[in-house]
Amino acid sequence: MKKILGAVLVVLLVLAAVALERTFTFRSRQPQAAAVAVQPLDTTALAQRLAGALRFKTISYQDSSQFDAREFDGFQRYLRATFPGLHAALTLEKVNGYGLLYAWTGADPNLSPIVLLAHQDVVPVEPGTESRWTEPPFEGRIAAGYVWGRGALDDKASLVGILEAVEQLVAAGVKPRRTVYLAFGYDEEVGGRRGAARIADLLASRNVHPQLVLDEGGALATGLVSGISAPVALIGIAEKGYVTVGLTAQAEGGHSSMPPDETAVGMLAAAITRLEHRQMPRAIRGPTAAMFDYLGPEMPFGPRLVMANRWLLGGILAREFGATPQGNAMLRTTTAPTVLQAGVKENVLPSSARALVNFRILPGDSVESVVEHVRRVVADERISVQALEETKSNPSGVTRVDGEPFQLLARTIRQVVPEAVVTPWLVVGATDSRHYARLTPNVLRFAGTAIGKDDIRRVHGTDERVGVQAYADAVRIYIQFLKNAAL
Ligand SMILES: [Zn+2]
Repeated sequence: MKKILGAVLVVLLVLAAVALERTFTFRSRQPQAAAVAVQPLDTTALAQRLAGALRFKTISYQDSSQFDAREFDGFQRYLRATFPGLHAALTLEKVNGYGLLYAWTGADPNLSPIVLLAHQDVVPVEPGTESRWTEPPFEGRIAAGYVWGRGALDDKASLVGILEAVEQLVAAGVKPRRTVYLAFGYDEEVGGRRGAARIADLLASRNVHPQLVLDEGGALATGLVSGISAPVALIGIAEKGYVTVGLTAQAEGGHSSMPPDETAVGMLAAAITRLEHRQMPRAIRGPTAAMFDYLGPEMPFGPRLVMANRWLLGGILAREFGATPQGNAMLRTTTAPTVLQAGVKENVLPSSARALVNFRILPGDSVESVVEHVRRVVADERISVQALEETKSNPSGVTRVDGEPFQLLARTIRQVVPEAVVTPWLVVGATDSRHYARLTPNVLRFAGTAIGKDDIRRVHGTDERVGVQAYADAVRIYIQFLKNAAL
């Protein structure tokens, strides 16, 4: 007995020693970069030019017949008038109507170009919520240190911020060595097939292989990562895939006075419950594993110990991190029943009942593996399982963090915001950048605007806004990025 206890003690001591050793040698991965002098900018004028862009209702509706061409025309005229230097120095092609492709031609044709993406469109304001806005959503007001309006964060701060950065550099007389494309789609919020996809087609047809593509998707977040008080630059190195699966249960219809043991509605409800209870497994891998490698060393001792020893404590980490819906979404393919359809009359048994379940697919899983999982869990031949063709999109590739494009962006952020902690990140939504995946493996998703916890609900919600200073810092990051990447 004593011998066994002694052996257990030895094993525990060895594990503890290894865990501590790994914790203390869990070195920071933050790139070393000397801070640059703060770029002097007229922040008020900057805010006013952004505010002007928010006055155009460049809305993407689910029903494309509601597309309002006049608003997009007005918006594009506004850009032309507001950034005259850029429009003189760069060429502009309109792609498939309203897509904008600017080219700032580099002096060295041997260098592969970079592509900066943003989208012109915004989501509508939910009818009935207009009066809840502190400032109206489409008047481009500046108040209390913020620019207010739909698109202030998603995504006109990126689009106008990129144009500001180029305008500043053009005014300073610089010319790029590497060609810079600015590519602005106009239907990102409904999939980007008419805008970004067509611009990417055009670049592909010209054999353009960018060194990197930079899009929205991550931000400079404060207060979102517990344990780190500094702003955390979340650089999206991948985005989740997407598929909606239809489940249709068939049964005998008939009078509801003599129901059979099992009805279509009951079978379907049970299938949905099974799907919710038996979700696809959590996994710490790919972009999420890279995130823990970058965040861990910056954390206090407790979480650092856990993140440094995922071989031993990965289960605890997944449970703790996955306890919130946001954390859970980064660890697994999520299951979300969204639509239910059955029945036409209160005393008639429906002969079929249908549900739609939306899955956001973790890199490493696929549309096929999700459908297989659904079939296995539903396991009822009276229920047909069919993925909706138009919703199928596999997860993106994962951009390497040890490659130059990621490191270049990480250094840039630390040059402009020296206290920032940079980290790779998994974007749980979809961006226009997925249409560019066939052009380059180096897709980065980051906009330099500072956001707090409370800004997440503002994007696509009420009171979307961006801080005047935060916006100026985002422009500074774009300027520095262009200097590092292309000049
Ligand atoms: Zn967006």
